[in-house]
Amino acid sequence: MIRFEQVSKAYLGGQQALQGVNFHLQQAEMAFLTGHSGAGKSTLLKLICGIERPSAGHIWFSGHDVSRLKHAEVPFLRRQIGMIFQDHNLLPDRTAYDNVSLPLIISGASPEEIRRRASAALDKVGLLDKAKCLPIQLSGGEQQRVGIARAVVNKPAVLLADEPTGNLDNELSAGILRLFEEFNRAGVTVLMATHDTGLIASRSYRVLTLSQGRLSGGDSYAG
Ligand code: ADP
Ligand code: ADP
Repeated sequence: MIRFEQVSKAYLGGQQALQGVNFHLQQAEMAFLTGHSGAGKSTLLKLICGIERPSAGHIWFSGHDVSRLKHAEVPFLRRQIGMIFQDHNLLPDRTAYDNVSLPLIISGASPEEIRRRASAALDKVGLLDKAKCLPIQLSGGEQQRVGIARAVVNKPAVLLADEPTGNLDNELSAGILRLFEEFNRAGVTVLMATHDTGLIASRSYRVLTLSQGRLSGGDSYAG
């Protein structure tokens, strides 16, 4: 599904964020990306969804070389990927329901389809009863779950999450992790960046560890 071949990324100004990164994530696989702050986790995720471009190497996304995509093709790639951020980026003046509907409106879904799928996504994260709330009326964990509903509402093949539990306590973090596991069991490929190794130590998850832009020691399995 996702394959990195000798991928390097140097930002303008010379900062070498990734160096010679190789890995392969199969369809319906779930893996974690760990490493200290500045190790290159966000950069790796941004390369997958075309927010950044590699300086060298190839990135394959279900058979397409993402590093060679024309700018006009990037939206087609994005539509197959659900992105989840630490600070969820919800629109503060829109209800939970409206935030979740937004990707459907952008992709031109019919009003009936929007109603059905936005409700289904909110139900999936356990927040149907909070549909009319503004983000400020929701707890941190609930806001993050709205962000997850928004990311999955278009039924993407891949979920990329960048420190999605960074602002949450242990119990809420475990809840978010269980949600990702549910999506993964339904066939969604999941890659989650986290520096919270305690969170993922309980199970034998696949873990990719970045250290100063390099994947160290190939794959390892936590837990
Ligand atoms: P992580 O997500 O593991 O904290 P990042 O991918 O954010 O790591 O950053 C990797 C390195 O690249 C860091 O040294 C960071 O300062 C640098 N970096 C990240 N984004 C940019 C950017 N837009 N411009 C220049 N340097 C950047
Ligand atoms: P999956 O694990 O989902 O089967 P892969 O990454 O193995 O996905 O590959 C999906 C498709 O991407 C392959 O059928 C192939 O066409 C293309 N592909 C992947 N890696 C390469 C490569 N190194 N060179 C050329 N094509 C590739």
